[in-house]
Amino acid sequence: MIYLNGKFMPIHEAFVPVLDRGFIFGDGVYEVIPAYSRKLFRLNEHLNRLQHSLDGIRLKNPHSNEEWRHLLEQVIDCNDSDDQYIYLHITRGVAKRDHAFPVNVTPTVFIMSNPLLPPPATLLGSGVSAITAIDNRWIRCDVKAISLLPNVLLRQLAIDAHAVETILIRDGFLTEGAASNIFVVKNNVLLAPPKSNLMLPGITYDVILELAATHQIPHEVRQISETETRNADEVLLTSSTKEILPITTLDGKLVGNGKPGATFSRLYALYQNFKNTRMRSSS
Ligand code: PMP
Repeated sequence: MIYLNGKFMPIHEAFVPVLDRGFIFGDGVYEVIPAYSRKLFRLNEHLNRLQHSLDGIRLKNPHSNEEWRHLLEQVIDCNDSDDQYIYLHITRGVAKRDHAFPVNVTPTVFIMSNPLLPPPATLLGSGVSAITAIDNRWIRCDVKAISLLPNVLLRQLAIDAHAVETILIRDGFLTEGAASNIFVVKNNVLLAPPKSNLMLPGITYDVILELAATHQIPHEVRQISETETRNADEVLLTSSTKEILPITTLDGKLVGNGKPGATFSRLYALYQNFKNTRMRSSS
């Protein structure tokens, strides 16, 4: 069951007119929000980022945060899994094709849900492969825009190479993954690229840095060069759906000793604990 413009319906009954600016221009923004045991995880943070994305494309937020919460909870209620990830999508609406913003047009609002499956234990045990590529996206990567063609093409490079993610390098520095944030570990220090217009401010990225601060894991937020990335002892990937994953092969070469490292294991355990504690108390 999905939500589209005020109505709940089965997904096969949901249609959008061809003149929707999402279809024509990719003119919209989105969010992906995990729900564990039917409770939304870090909802306020996701809604703040949604507002930032809407501001970035100069589109008025069609709902208050309370309205969003209510809509999202209704979508969760009418779907089966206890753990779900909610996809929320807003476009500038339906209008005659013209680049100029249309006047008095209602935005299109679409919400769907899928079962949220944690990465299998085998992947966590072995780690995953990644490749690198030049970050050739626009310079508003902090906006979670639905126009994802560069990310699609970059991520497909990983799929073609039988890898899980493409790690992006811009002007000699690590930015993020095609669909994730990336951390590296060197000499037991967790390194995170600083938030900027060149990367999406990940909600999981923030959780990981909060956990590192709370649990005295040495960490630094600073620019990370391509060389440092290649010579890292550990490379970690984070996202709301994959949580935290160890990258143990980069461009066909082993990362460190080729096994998930101690910092990954520590952060993985802390993340699971944090998530479970949160879900038991409140959303
Ligand atoms: N960067 C990009 C480009 C992403 O698409 C995502 C989410 N899929 C992330 C980072 C991770 O963000 P979050 O932790 O909020 O899922």
